[in-house]
Amino acid sequence: MESSSFPWLSHKEWAVQRWGEPLYRVPVDPGWGCPHKKPGEIGGCSFCAEDGGRARQTLGADSPAGQVAKGMAFARERYGEGKLELYIQAYTATFSSVDALKALIEPLLEANSFVSLSLGTRPDCLPPASLELLLEWNQHLDVWVELGLQTAQDATLLRINRQHSWAKSKEAVYKLQEAGLNCCAHLLFGLPGETSDEMFATVEEVVALPVQALKLHNLHVIEGSILGEQFKQQPFPVLSESAWLELVMQLIRRIPADLPLFRVFTDSEHRLAPKSEFSKGAFLHQLEGTMRERGWFQGEL
Ligand code: SF4
Repeated sequence: MESSSFPWLSHKEWAVQRWGEPLYRVPVDPGWGCPHKKPGEIGGCSFCAEDGGRARQTLGADSPAGQVAKGMAFARERYGEGKLELYIQAYTATFSSVDALKALIEPLLEANSFVSLSLGTRPDCLPPASLELLLEWNQHLDVWVELGLQTAQDATLLRINRQHSWAKSKEAVYKLQEAGLNCCAHLLFGLPGETSDEMFATVEEVVALPVQALKLHNLHVIEGSILGEQFKQQPFPVLSESAWLELVMQLIRRIPADLPLFRVFTDSEHRLAPKSEFSKGAFLHQLEGTMRERGWFQGEL
């Protein structure tokens, strides 16, 4: 088995343990929107981009099959061989009828050899009928729900206009556990008004929940978001990438070593802040080097 190249359990290492080779994501944006964001308006969560976080490799292809073809070509060209995961992303994937979900996903699963299916959603958007359908697919492939939790602090959830509480987030995680589905929790750090103690407290709360993976994001203030508008009117301090490097090491040390970290760095377009200091590769290299130098590793605290 390939040994870890990072002092944390990366997506690649986790995939090699699970599948014997890396797992590459093929993103599809069904264009269903989000229950929390009205089309054509700036609204929803204050950090959310106008396109709901659509992956750049799906841009320029409209049909789901076209997006899959583009995404697969991108993955093969950039990464080579490996297993493939269908990732229904951007906005809120379970914000649709079960019939629409079936009509979108089944042809894509039939036509391609995906070993895994992942859907991004909000804690208050997990209707029982959708969970049942996911469970059905879970018989044949790994099904992951990527759940946007962001923070465990109710005051921050209110400030960023999430329109759900931390109690709702916990309820959603337990609902997924009960259904037997994998949950990857998305967390966002550097949100306005949040202290580092609150960010550590969020990690402590989240690792106590039955989640199977985490994505750690540092805040980007994006053009077209509520925060972006506020920033343009009155710039406010935003966690720099060097500060995130220091913070994420402290977070990683507090996360159990067997919990894979599918992401540790935000990579987005159209950002207003913070200024870019690292490419994703350079950030990972620096993070790895610094942790090794200091003798730090995931889960040691
Ligand atoms: S972050 Fe997610 S839940 Fe919030 S507005 Fe954007 S798509 Fe909707």
